[in-house]
Amino acid sequence: MSDVLRQSMDVDIACVGFGPATGGFLTSLAKSLSQPDSTPLESKIMPGMPLQVVCYERADDIGFGVSGVVTRARGIRESFPEFNPADIPMAAPVREEKLLYLLDPTGASRRPLAMRLADKLIRAFRIGLPIEHEALEIPYTPEFLNKDDGFVLSIGQFNQWVGQQLMMSGAVQVWPASPVKEPLIDDNKVVGIRLMDQGVEKDGTPTAAYMPGMDVRAALTVIGDGPVGPVGRKIDEQLGAPEGRSNDEWAVGMKFVVDLPEGVDLEPGTVFHTLGYPEPEIFGFFYVHPDRIASVGIFVPSWFDNPARTAYRYLQHYVQHPYLWRYLNGGTLRSWGAKSLQESGCRGEPHLAGDGYARIGEGSGSTNVLTNSGVDEAWVTGVQLAEGVVELLKEGKPFTRENLEAAYVARRRASWVEKEGRTAEKARDGFQRSFITGMIGMGLTGLTGGRLAMPGKPLPPHERIGKVEDFFADRLGAEEIESIKMDCSKTGRVLHDALMERCGWPVIEYDGKLLVSQQDALLIGGKVQAPSGVADHIVFLYPNQCESCGTRICVEICSGEAIYPGENGAPGFDREKCIHCGACIWNCAGDNVRLEAGAGGLHSAEN
Ligand SMILES: Cc1cc2nc3c(=O)[nH]c(=O)nc-3n(C[C@H](O)[C@H](O)[C@H](O)COP(=O)(O)OP(=O)(O)OC[C@H]3O[C@@H](n4cnc5c(N)ncnc54)[C@H](O)[C@@H]3O)c2cc1C
Ligand code: SF4
Ligand code: SF4
Repeated sequence: MSDVLRQSMDVDIACVGFGPATGGFLTSLAKSLSQPDSTPLESKIMPGMPLQVVCYERADDIGFGVSGVVTRARGIRESFPEFNPADIPMAAPVREEKLLYLLDPTGASRRPLAMRLADKLIRAFRIGLPIEHEALEIPYTPEFLNKDDGFVLSIGQFNQWVGQQLMMSGAVQVWPASPVKEPLIDDNKVVGIRLMDQGVEKDGTPTAAYMPGMDVRAALTVIGDGPVGPVGRKIDEQLGAPEGRSNDEWAVGMKFVVDLPEGVDLEPGTVFHTLGYPEPEIFGFFYVHPDRIASVGIFVPSWFDNPARTAYRYLQHYVQHPYLWRYLNGGTLRSWGAKSLQESGCRGEPHLAGDGYARIGEGSGSTNVLTNSGVDEAWVTGVQLAEGVVELLKEGKPFTRENLEAAYVARRRASWVEKEGRTAEKARDGFQRSFITGMIGMGLTGLTGGRLAMPGKPLPPHERIGKVEDFFADRLGAEEIESIKMDCSKTGRVLHDALMERCGWPVIEYDGKLLVSQQDALLIGGKVQAPSGVADHIVFLYPNQCESCGTRICVEICSGEAIYPGENGAPGFDREKCIHCGACIWNCAGDNVRLEAGAGGLHSAEN
């Protein structure tokens, strides 16, 4: 379709994605642009006019992102010295922070022997230990995990608040519902972006209503499209990545936002970090917002080897852990969501800058898995880029790789984000071997400031995760698994439900309020929406490969049950259910799923 007539527009700076990283970039830039005493930064493409800055966000509104969030907000507070959580819905200062080891109340959790023994000892010596409702309160929260000077936020509400400040400044434009299809690359230089085509069939074939996506040409393209963003991925593919880069560590984070039942008197700002349940590999969180609202969620990491690894089902067991259930029982689901986390941190860092472009936020390797913090780090990388950009503009220097490295990358290298990121680099390597070595490794790294770590080689999930038969071999015979599989394929039931129940996980007793089916969850709290007239954003690259894929992990893990067993070997995809979490791309057993730019998705600004 190279001969189609496309609209084209010129701007000075084009940004991809409006998450915390771009929020930090635009906030800092807008401040510099609107300083009354500074020399106005003039647009190069419209001489005499102020700088033309535009940001395109994929989701149908800004603030439809998914996150925890408890954050120390060091960078955010620097940007907003008057930061007052009372101005932002669902925000509160952290009041109480607890680290909890959750015992297994069901007997179904796959605990290693050492953990089972530890559980027995904890139960045997419960008198004298801080044990309550099947949870041991760990008396000391290591300094590196502490967020007691920070805030509990909803990232959706925070992003909306940031968006409002930006709109009021009038210095930049933010356009939601505008997925960016790809970068425009000319002779190894990024010269702008192309928006997604509209009026096409699901496979991209133009219909009578075809409207080619506009080309937005820019002197600088800022890529803040998050951990699985297609624009960042295309830059990597076309312009390459640093030698030795490894971005194989992932997790899917899934959460419920819940109206707590009346009578629950937890203070806003209460924070629980948990480990040990539903599976040792799955960490969890429970944060209390004002107005008796809580966020509760889990992380299912790429180093969890269970091929039937459904975050939704595990989250339902998590919320029913007695320690949490005493607060949640009787509560109502307001909204839910899921998103991938790029957990390789610095090791997953792409080229941070090149001719005409710069990368910020989680997609640029800013998330810190030792401190469990990504929002503030992403924000700060955006601020650093803005400072660098203003410097270059004032000096009249072009956005070349060399100049961006001196003005942006050097700032980043000298900052706490880099220092703490380097400390965290090997923090989770021990988990590649086992949960216990992982915990020891985290402790070692955190307590020695990164000088010591437990060795372990991060592997991409498709090299780690084996067959269902192998993973469940100690619990179920091959014949039994085969019969469960056949049963599931006849009845259309998902395999993980059948396997989990056979392994002792209790059946979920839906209460229609908080414990609802995955299908009902898709309809709650703003729903999932998928516009027509755009191409499907999940593409199975080699359908033939799927025919011989035994595990079909894409079906098992899909956060919205949008991927289902197809008819001819290849899975099917129903975009009406896709929440754009990106988990299918890194979980696929054959590296066979591609996430393209896509429209719609979750409609909730509470996550
Ligand atoms: C369940 C969960 C809990 C978490 N808890 C915490 C926590 O407690 N504390 C903490 O600090 N961090 C937490 N994180 C991590 C945190 O959410 C991320 O580190 C942070 O959001 C990264 O910000 P970002 O701006 O780089 O990317 P994102 O927040 O991912 O934003 C990227 C934006 O780009 C948009 N986009 C993507 N592709 C395109 C495209 N093609 N065109 C246009 N727009 C596009 C996306 O829609 C999105 O809005 C959590 C994450 C999850 C999933
Ligand atoms: S997409 Fe990946 S996981 Fe799914 S069936 Fe195909 S190869 Fe297997
Ligand atoms: S199909 Fe959509 S909801 Fe399912 S795993 Fe992939 S991105 Fe997530």
